[in-house]
Amino acid sequence: MIKIALFSTKSYDKEYFELFRPKDEIEVRYFKSALNEDTTELVKGFEIVCVFVNDHINRTVLGCLHKHGIKLIALRCAGFNNVDLEAAHEFGIKVVRVPAYSPNAVAEHAMALILTLNRKTHKAYNRIREGNFSLERLTGFNIYKKTLGVVGTGQIGKAFCNIALGFGANIVAYDLYPNSELEAKGVKYVSIDELFRQSDIISLHCPLTSDTRHMINSKAFKKMKDGVMIINTSRGALIDSKAAIKALKKRKLGYFGIDVYEQEENLFFQDHSESIIEDEVIMRLTSFPNVLITSHQAFLTHEAMEQITIITYQNIKDFVNGNTLINEVKL
Ligand code: NAD
Repeated sequence: MIKIALFSTKSYDKEYFELFRPKDEIEVRYFKSALNEDTTELVKGFEIVCVFVNDHINRTVLGCLHKHGIKLIALRCAGFNNVDLEAAHEFGIKVVRVPAYSPNAVAEHAMALILTLNRKTHKAYNRIREGNFSLERLTGFNIYKKTLGVVGTGQIGKAFCNIALGFGANIVAYDLYPNSELEAKGVKYVSIDELFRQSDIISLHCPLTSDTRHMINSKAFKKMKDGVMIINTSRGALIDSKAAIKALKKRKLGYFGIDVYEQEENLFFQDHSESIIEDEVIMRLTSFPNVLITSHQAFLTHEAMEQITIITYQNIKDFVNGNTLINEVKL
């Protein structure tokens, strides 16, 4: 029987991991806590851990995992910036991920953020519940013929371009590897500076790397149109949040929709409604009328959960059976 320690368990994780669990092959122990320097003792007796975006797998954690005999880290997400790959390699611990479970789930959420911020449906919903049928301050703009800048046209960025093309938007894109299929549909690849200059809306879909960390900073804001909309469903640290607050105050940043946040680790996925939140940056962000924050939920659709679970189990079975790890994250 294969035994897995699954960290950062939420009710929906348990629901899907139980639903698709090959009952005679795999046993799962569900831990609510995240895997970090304080919780490594929990992995005793396991060879495989399954983790999510905010489990912090740094060198110290990896050293402890190695000491306890962990051989595989199965990420149940696409991004892998939270794992020190170099240290994992040194300790001989393999890392697998779910590269594309449902690009459309995230791309559709990015469009939902755009539409909500623009057409203010969240405000209309609250107003009407209170008997306020006024249209004052609900004016939006057409997406048709606006210029959308897409940074990163991999699986999610491509799905997002296809949705935006359906709205009749002009699309400019930036990626290290332009996609000819998108070019054939009218997507125009430009430099990142040109994308900043031309875009009415910028949507981020590139991974977080040392090159992309804080790519949206005060210098970048200076190149953008006044009133630009920025959407981030990728990773929080692509944006310098303090620079975003300054840009909001200067009216440079006209709309800000984020599903991810630089310091989300101890905040997102949890109910803090009865606590004093110490993070001044997120509290300032929530105070702006033109900021919309969701708590890293872009992936959360039935279809995506199904794929995440099935692919994670397959990755684990491939490892145990000595098969090629098609979803291995290599250095
Ligand atoms: P992908 O690997 O298919 O695509 C990433 C693209 O970014 C590639 O085309 C790559 O060439 C490009 N890229 C890499 N470095 C770049 C750079 N410096 N500048 C511009 N482009 C660059 O990944 P994906 O499946 O499309 O996922 C994109 C990101 O979305 C992931 O890295 C992850 O952080 C994030 N994500 C978020 C959620 C969520 O729930 N919010 C869910 C899944 C993924």
